[in-house]
Amino acid sequence: MIASTRQTSLSGKRSRGRWKQRLAARLAAPLSACFGPRVANAFGILMYHRVALETPGVPRPTWNVTPERFRQQLAGLLARGYEPWPLRRALEHHRKSLPIARKAFVVTFDDGYENVFTHAWPVLQALSVPATVFVSTAYLDDERPFPFDDWSAAGSRFVPRSAWRPLSTAQCRQMLEGGLIELGTHTHTHRDFRGRPEELAADLRTSLMVLKSRFGLNDATFAFPYGTRDLGYSGPVLSAAAGRAGCLCSLTTEDELVTPNIDPFDWGRFTAEDSDTPWTLAAKLDGWFSAARRMWRAATGRRSTSLPLVRVRAETRDFATNSSKRDACST
Ligand SMILES: [Zn+2]
Repeated sequence: MIASTRQTSLSGKRSRGRWKQRLAARLAAPLSACFGPRVANAFGILMYHRVALETPGVPRPTWNVTPERFRQQLAGLLARGYEPWPLRRALEHHRKSLPIARKAFVVTFDDGYENVFTHAWPVLQALSVPATVFVSTAYLDDERPFPFDDWSAAGSRFVPRSAWRPLSTAQCRQMLEGGLIELGTHTHTHRDFRGRPEELAADLRTSLMVLKSRFGLNDATFAFPYGTRDLGYSGPVLSAAAGRAGCLCSLTTEDELVTPNIDPFDWGRFTAEDSDTPWTLAAKLDGWFSAARRMWRAATGRRSTSLPLVRVRAETRDFATNSSKRDACST
C-alpha cells in the first residue's frame, strides 16, 4: 500500500539480485560442509544493517534479518566451531602479524538502527558475541528515518519505530558499558563521497569528534557507506583520506575474505541476509560463496547484479531528495 512505482521497480531489481545471491550461497553451502575452509590464513567479516520484526500487511523491511533468524545464524555458527572476534582484536593481530584463527569471524552493523539495541544486542549478549556498530553520527537521537533508508514503510505509524529510527546516544552508551559492543564511524552524514576524498576526510573528522565527545573514543574503526569498489564508493584514494582523518581501518562491502596481505583499509565484508542459514553463512566465511559467484560470472560472462549496487543507486537518489533537509542536522 505504501510502495511507489520506483519502489516497485527497485524491488524487482533487488529480488533478481537476491535470487542470484541465494543461489550462489546454496551452491556453496555443501562445498563448505564437505571441504571446510577454502582459503588458509583467512577470516570473514559479516555485515548486518537492520534486525527488526516483520509487520503483516506492510512491505518487508529492507536490509533486514529478523531477530529470530539473527539468533539462529549466530548460534549455528558457534555450534560449528566459528569463533567471534571483536574487530579491534583482528586489527591488532594483523598489525602485529599475529595469527588469526581460521574460524574467526567478525560481526558488524552499518548505519546505527535502534533495532541493533532493541533486538540484536540481547542476542549478542546471550551468545557472548562481540560486534562493531558503524554509526552515521549526524543522525544519533534523530526521530526521523535515515534519509538513505530505502524501506517504504520507514517512518510509518504502522510499524514499530525501532524498525527504522536511528540509535540514541543513551542506547549507544548502554551498549558500550556492556563491553561487547564497539562503536565505529560510518561517516557523519552518510553522503556520496565518490571523487571527494577531502570532503570525506572532513566529514570523518566531524564524526570522530562526535564519538570522542559523546563516548570518549580516542580513535575509531570505519566502514564506507555504500562501500562498493567498482562504483567508486571505496578504493585507495578514499581509504587514504580515511587514514588521514585518523580512522583505524576502512571496510568495504566487497564480499571478500580477509587475508594477511590485505590492508585493513581495504578489508571486505559479507552481507548477512535473512535467507542465510548457518550453512550458507559458513560458506561465505569459508570462501566458497565468493568462488561460486566468480564461477557464475565466468559462466554468464558478466557481473551479477549485486545487492549493494542496487541499494547505492536508490540511496543516491534518496539522498539527493533529502540532502538539503539533512544537511541542517547538527551534532
Ligand atoms: Zn550505510
